[in-house]
Amino acid sequence: MDTLAIFEIKNSALNTGVSVALLILGVLWLALIFWTFADARRRIDDPLLVVCATLCSFFPFVGTIVYLIVRPPEFLDDVRLRELEMSAAEARLASLDYQLCPHCDYEIQADYLRCPSCMRKLKERCYSCSKPIDPAWRICPFCEAETSAPTASATTRRRRRQTTDQATVAAEVATPEPEEATASGKSRRRRD
Ligand SMILES: [Zn+2]
Ligand SMILES: [Zn+2]
Repeated sequence: MDTLAIFEIKNSALNTGVSVALLILGVLWLALIFWTFADARRRIDDPLLVVCATLCSFFPFVGTIVYLIVRPPEFLDDVRLRELEMSAAEARLASLDYQLCPHCDYEIQADYLRCPSCMRKLKERCYSCSKPIDPAWRICPFCEAETSAPTASATTRRRRRQTTDQATVAAEVATPEPEEATASGKSRRRRD
């Protein structure tokens, strides 16, 4: 009698345990269906494919696992954002003429001779073809004429050449004297 009662109690406890487990599994299954639908809607553009993914997740648990394997790796929002950034970069590349003034950061174009904002000189005009050229350029890239205005590097080179010239001149001035002295000495010696 007692053992039967204990068995019945055990049996009823087992039954409630199983039913609770089934209830949890059922709720989990429904939650996974909802999650699959929500996730598919954020990743898949085609509504028919979203319905297919949701129907697939109705197959308990395995359907959601299969969906996790085959789902698109990116969210649609990320794809759209990337496309926007790409188009913005392309637009930036298309407007390469657009620059900033090195003195005041005002928007200028590559062929401006003077900044319209700070009035500072940006480009020189080529004396030969009168196209705007950078003061640092040694020749005009449009007509191959050498730039009339001496560049900074050219002036320093010229200055250096002048200094070397002066030094050699000084050396030339300085060296003949001992030669003359020796020559006069030799001549003196010869005279002796
Ligand atoms: Zn400026
Ligand atoms: Zn030129």
